[in-house]
Amino acid sequence: ILARGRDVCKRNGLLILSVLSVTVGCLLGFFLRTRRLSPQEISYFQFPGELLMRMLKMLILPLVVSRNMFPANLVEATFKQYRTKTTPIIKSPKMASEEAAPRQILIYGVQEENGSRVQNFALDLTPPPEIVYKSEPDTIDGMNVLGIVIFSATMGIMLGRMGDSGTPLVSFCQCLNESVMKIVAVAVWYFPFGIVFLIAGKILEMDDPTAVRKKLGFYAVTVVCGLVVHGLFILPLLYFFITKKNPIVFIRGVLQALLIALATSSSSATLPITFKCLLENNHIDRRIARFVLPVGATINMDGTALYEAVAAIFIAQVNNYELDFGQIITISITATAASIGAAGIPQAGLVTMVIVLTSVGLPTDDITLIIAVDWALDRFRTMINVLGDALAAGIMAHICRKDFAQDTGTEVSLPSPE
Ligand code: ASP
Repeated sequence: ILARGRDVCKRNGLLILSVLSVTVGCLLGFFLRTRRLSPQEISYFQFPGELLMRMLKMLILPLVVSRNMFPANLVEATFKQYRTKTTPIIKSPKMASEEAAPRQILIYGVQEENGSRVQNFALDLTPPPEIVYKSEPDTIDGMNVLGIVIFSATMGIMLGRMGDSGTPLVSFCQCLNESVMKIVAVAVWYFPFGIVFLIAGKILEMDDPTAVRKKLGFYAVTVVCGLVVHGLFILPLLYFFITKKNPIVFIRGVLQALLIALATSSSSATLPITFKCLLENNHIDRRIARFVLPVGATINMDGTALYEAVAAIFIAQVNNYELDFGQIITISITATAASIGAAGIPQAGLVTMVIVLTSVGLPTDDITLIIAVDWALDRFRTMINVLGDALAAGIMAHICRKDFAQDTGTEVSLPSPE
């Protein structure tokens, strides 16, 4: 038994450490709240968590570019054959920063007209020359992930068509990709430490939890229950029906990524770990993962859609506003659209919720009612967003299994241009 236990610990060491660090982070956070630390002390305390966020963000750009540029012909083939299955649609560039006060997020959100959002989505699909740009107001990482994916994929297709003359750039991307994955392999050992401070720091910052519990408990429980049903039943069942494989095994493989999502509240920041889990634990074809995950982290947000719909209904109830069936359907549709427009950064869903509320004439100012618990709900919905992306990659890998032979780790050489 001891030997088996040691073996399990060895294989799942990082995962066990991550679970422990979430627990320690919560306990430490609630304990330190009783000590009434000064803002200065809290900011020192949050520093290791801030480092974790920066590390993750540092890795996103090289990862997304290198992983999308050199599959070339695969992207082309995927677009041709599966155009209807994963269709990149939209992304809003302008998301308030994590550091920005919630009220500022709201003011920005209210000012943003639906029309200009649609224009921004379209603009994002054709990124400006610098590709990675800072939007107004400042974004958390200033990154237009969907624009980068589209640019890199277009370059990849062209490189594939160029044949031999494209090889230097293909090799460069391959090298970049491998080196980034090596950095990820080292950096993951810092994550459990960073998670403790990230979570505890957030708990130190939050409003009085007792008041929050009284006012918003029922709303929060409804959102969490919805997310649990979606994450534990609907998504796994969908995966099972399509692939006929055990979803529990698949989900176990991405647990590490789910914990990072819980700690960072950002699907984009979690991307490097989601890649790692899918490739190493679930053995998903890397060509599928590098195409599906960045697109998914930008537009596929099941958790956010669910939360936005529940929040809108909650705000209607608080205002004694009777919603008819048609309005509930409108909320469901606009919540889905708004979640597509939300970036994979903390509390982006709070901004795009303005669209949902406006669609049924609810007061946008009432978003302030849910701000107090949003920091916590954001973590859970981000987990579901990441799980949805991972399962989507698993399903795509299953659907594409006949077209693309399993990529076992050594990078693929490009198929001939035609
Ligand atoms: N934080 C979420 C994510 O990164 C987006 C949101 O719902 O606010 O996936």
